[in-house]
Amino acid sequence: MTSLDVSHLSVNFGDRTVINDLSFTLQAGEIASLLGPSGCGKTTLLRAIAGLLQPREGTIRLGTQLVGLSSVVLPPNKRRTGYVPQQGALFPHLNVAQNIAFGLSKKEFSQAEITKTISEMLALIGMPGYENQMPTELSGGQQTRVALARALAIKPKMVLLDEPFSALDAELRNELRSEVVALLRAQGTTAILVTHDREEALVSSDKVVLMRDGKIAQYGSPEEVYESPISPSVAVSTGDALVLSAHQAKDGSTSYALATLSAPTGAVSTNNGYVVIRPEEISVSKSSAAGVAGTLIQLDYYGHDAMLVVKLSDSSEIIRARVAGPMDFAVGDLVKVEHRGPIRFFANA
Ligand code: ATP
Repeated sequence: MTSLDVSHLSVNFGDRTVINDLSFTLQAGEIASLLGPSGCGKTTLLRAIAGLLQPREGTIRLGTQLVGLSSVVLPPNKRRTGYVPQQGALFPHLNVAQNIAFGLSKKEFSQAEITKTISEMLALIGMPGYENQMPTELSGGQQTRVALARALAIKPKMVLLDEPFSALDAELRNELRSEVVALLRAQGTTAILVTHDREEALVSSDKVVLMRDGKIAQYGSPEEVYESPISPSVAVSTGDALVLSAHQAKDGSTSYALATLSAPTGAVSTNNGYVVIRPEEISVSKSSAAGVAGTLIQLDYYGHDAMLVVKLSDSSEIIRARVAGPMDFAVGDLVKVEHRGPIRFFANA
């Protein structure tokens, strides 16, 4: 178990800067998710931490050990990071036992120790007896488990997982993700999980690193990045969000399609901008006298809840509201909508 300190890290491919002056820290035993659009540099950052890429500038420390900077790079096997790459993680010509033992050097460990580690890892991932199976004989979920066992077998200081669940169907993905997170937590392993999936990022980690164009857009706990996004675009990348035009007056009140509300902070300079609302912060009623009138124009039913799409009568703004089931709404209903959550106002840049 170790802490991670990435400081002012920049990584280039030729002239192109892909990671740009990026800094963050992780406490020992914390799990972080790297979340961001395709091409923003998630895999590059992970590979730099693993020692597979040399930074142009900046430093990477595992605990007190300086493992990466532009002039010196400790090779991957010396920094003891377990790396689980994207799909195709297993060596196809090696069986399960050989895959798990791959990082265990025969100079460092006796054959008896290696055999014992293989058994321990297979027990850990719930696959005892699979030593002689070949990767092609395993399901996608089993392959991911073996890749994780191989990463953990070296008793890593840190585990780096690059979208390990992306090839799996939704049910297996959720199941395996909670198993893997429970396993990492039980071992107290510091870990980074790369994902495109915002729910996966929120549910799996202590910290979310939101990346954009090689930089950190926001870094914080899942609650911080979801409840207090620093911009409308960050709000959209961590969950469903409504972004409505808004105006903030001198007295601090904020007007937007659903209300004029006083801000608790008091007087501010006047500003045009946006408010960001989560759909679960909107309530919809067919009988309430309070609220803003509109017509239900779409109902997406998910079982555990539904997304109601309401067109407001006065402003023609479209409002999405997440409503827990059971419910008795139908498209065409005349409804009232109310915003019950916090006001997140962002002035125009
Ligand atoms: P994805 O979510 O699609 O996997 P990512 O956020 O992990 O994307 P990276 O794989 O880190 O993104 O790539 C970041 C940028 O660096 C991309 O524009 C990519 O084309 C470029 N890149 C990645 N690897 C190399 C390489 N070996 N040589 C040149 N450019 C590269």
